Amino acid sequence: MCQEVKQADSAYIAGTYGRFDAVMLKGEGAHYEGPDGKRYIDFGTGIGVTLFGACDPDWVAAVTHQLTTLGHTSNLYYTEPQTQLAKLLCERTGMKKVFFGNSGAEANECALKVARKYGEKDNRDVIVTLVNSFHGRTIATLAATGQDRFHEHFGPFPAGFRYTPANDIPALEAILSTGNVCGLLMEMVQGEGGVIPLDPAFVKKAEELCRANDILLMVDEVQTGNGRTGTLYAYEQFGIHPDVVTTAKGLAGGLPMGACLLGERCEHVLGKGDHGSTFGGNPICAAAALNVISRLNEDVFAGVKERAAYIRKELTGAPGVKSITGLGLMIGILPENKTAAEVASACLQDGLMVLTAHEKVRLLPPLNISYEDLAAGLAILKKHFA
Ligand SMILES: *Cc1c(COP(=O)(O)O)cnc(C)c1O
Repeated sequence: MCQEVKQADSAYIAGTYGRFDAVMLKGEGAHYEGPDGKRYIDFGTGIGVTLFGACDPDWVAAVTHQLTTLGHTSNLYYTEPQTQLAKLLCERTGMKKVFFGNSGAEANECALKVARKYGEKDNRDVIVTLVNSFHGRTIATLAATGQDRFHEHFGPFPAGFRYTPANDIPALEAILSTGNVCGLLMEMVQGEGGVIPLDPAFVKKAEELCRANDILLMVDEVQTGNGRTGTLYAYEQFGIHPDVVTTAKGLAGGLPMGACLLGERCEHVLGKGDHGSTFGGNPICAAAALNVISRLNEDVFAGVKERAAYIRKELTGAPGVKSITGLGLMIGILPENKTAAEVASACLQDGLMVLTAHEKVRLLPPLNISYEDLAAGLAILKKHFA
């Protein structure tokens, strides 16, 4: 079966993915299994998605209940799960309004539109993002992504995007004071860029400069959000109050959902007909996200921080480990003498699923992974770093 799946993939799937050499059949918690019976421990959660592990029973029950009650209506009608979820997200964050889409790119697309319309009154249309950022794969979110390698082949890109280096306060001051900037979009921890947290002083300064220049402060929490870093959203740990927060990946715990949260300065910017999505906030994904967000409490966050400390302790000074970066259970490990891709494929061979991000091995394990599974996975990881 594995061979057939791989052959059909290469025959019929658009060749956009460099896949690992493994077919997955089923999953339970932090364990996956292939059709060949090969078993894996999961340190990747499908890129930060299955926060409580694969096929978590409580999540499955919530989704199944909604699936057999009401699956889809479009946004032409009101539905309770969508409104309940929006209310919960606003109550938990202090934000005022939510727009739901189906992915991180769409959440960011909404943020970009909000910033553009916000700046319309005084002809400000420039959106500033950081060098080495990642914001998605659509044409506009690629333009927002501050990495040259994403800017090949697909131009012309929309105008009005400028990039500034992370943690460089004078450069940020210069670019935000030009008088034509409407929004600043940034990740608190650059994920795809190599799991690099921003400097807290830079983040605080960014907030101050946005306030002083009437610029929307927009935080991309697609990867860092929903408990991943040990708080509901990572910006909380930087002591800022963003105007826009985007999230996706783990939001619905395994179903496609993105959200763009709007604070009081921009809650009324979008009006009827300004934006929309056929599937956005559909009852099934909303029920899934309600289950996830209502379970993300202080106990879970304490567990995230504890597990993160354990992983760091285990890996610090381990042979072949050059450095460890990240926040909470979003961890980047730089190998000393191997490439991240080499380490990741050797781990997979040995039954451990990990991710990479630039030159780092990236870990995004389930937030509730058992210490037994953590220990077993870390043993495999250490073997292949050495
Ligand atoms: C993954 C990611 C995105 C894109 O999300 P998709 O759901 O793949 O569109 C955007 N921003 C950040 C920070 C991400 O990690």
